[in-house]
Amino acid sequence: MSSAGELLSLIRDGRAVTRPELARQTNLSRSTVAERVRALLAHELVCEAGGTPSTGGRPPTRLVLNQGAGVVLAADLGTARSRLAVSDLSGELLAERVVELDLAQAPDGVPASADGGFAELLAAVCRSAGEVWGVGIGVPSRADRADPADEPPPGWDAATVQHHFSRRYDVPVLVDVDVNVRALGERWVHWRDVEHLIYVDAGSSIVCGIVAGRRVHRGAQGVAGHIGHIALEDRDDALCRCGNAGCLDAVAGGRALAARLTAAGLEAETGVDVVRLAAAGEPLATQAVRDAGRALGEVLAGAVTFFNPGAIVIGGALSAAHEPLLAGVREITSARLLPMATRDLRMGHSRLGDRAAVIGAAVLAIEHLLAPETVDAVVRPRRG
Ligand SMILES: [Zn+2]
Repeated sequence: MSSAGELLSLIRDGRAVTRPELARQTNLSRSTVAERVRALLAHELVCEAGGTPSTGGRPPTRLVLNQGAGVVLAADLGTARSRLAVSDLSGELLAERVVELDLAQAPDGVPASADGGFAELLAAVCRSAGEVWGVGIGVPSRADRADPADEPPPGWDAATVQHHFSRRYDVPVLVDVDVNVRALGERWVHWRDVEHLIYVDAGSSIVCGIVAGRRVHRGAQGVAGHIGHIALEDRDDALCRCGNAGCLDAVAGGRALAARLTAAGLEAETGVDVVRLAAAGEPLATQAVRDAGRALGEVLAGAVTFFNPGAIVIGGALSAAHEPLLAGVREITSARLLPMATRDLRMGHSRLGDRAAVIGAAVLAIEHLLAPETVDAVVRPRRG
């Protein structure tokens, strides 16, 4: 039996937006649908948006998510810069800003400046703290422990950040690592019709966010998607920071590419430098990015066979040179994969760039707040 929360999901997805359509989709009686829609209307989760074009008679009233019923606070917390936003319930950002962080000014590593920033953003969109339904936060990943220099300082872990914002806002606070929220953000804005997606963050190191059935797949220890330490064949010459040889990071990570270019007499320290050289037409840099794409393609070919995603989205610093990067990936995946696996596989580069994480953080909170089980707990009539 489809609950009120499940009806809301159908309305949000546009799969059924009138009472007759909801009855048809769910096989519920018209009176049951009417009762559940009444509950959604009473809780201001949906609103009526006029009739649909009809072939005669009174058109059935269209129902839409009441996206302004509440707001969500979202943040992409970085160790140098953070992006804060206020979102409506459809994931549309109403206001956003970038704040520079001084870690010395941030007790426990959690930015107190985020609290002030949220208050100012709420004021800017004329909403109050009482209208905040939830908070979504992306935090720097801690899983790449092979290089202590990359580690965010203590206090940036999901549990501490969750605790910090839970004390300030008496609403659900959802926290996940940045690569996972970026995956959610990219899917939400540009790949909404795809249920299963791999988002690759190709920067100094290479890591994936995995969306399976529209939800983030984190794995048993929360480190699913750490493909940077998958070993490539015949690349024992590439020594990785983790102590092994032939890891994808050591072959195709931004730092590894920069080191190769430095050895060839060019000036490059990071993946950003490599991309800059490629954009300036330096053939060695373009070649290095294409080779990185091939190495990434080797690992992704295995991932695609295993996971069968609908789309692969490549972001991170190296994706600024997406043409040679994606060409390398496609060259290897199309050669290695069965046509069945690639026929409907779509591939593209990140189009949200630096905004992917904050949008994804909002989506993380919204998908929790509007999930059928959460909605049902809210609209269920109290007994006794
Ligand atoms: Zn490694």
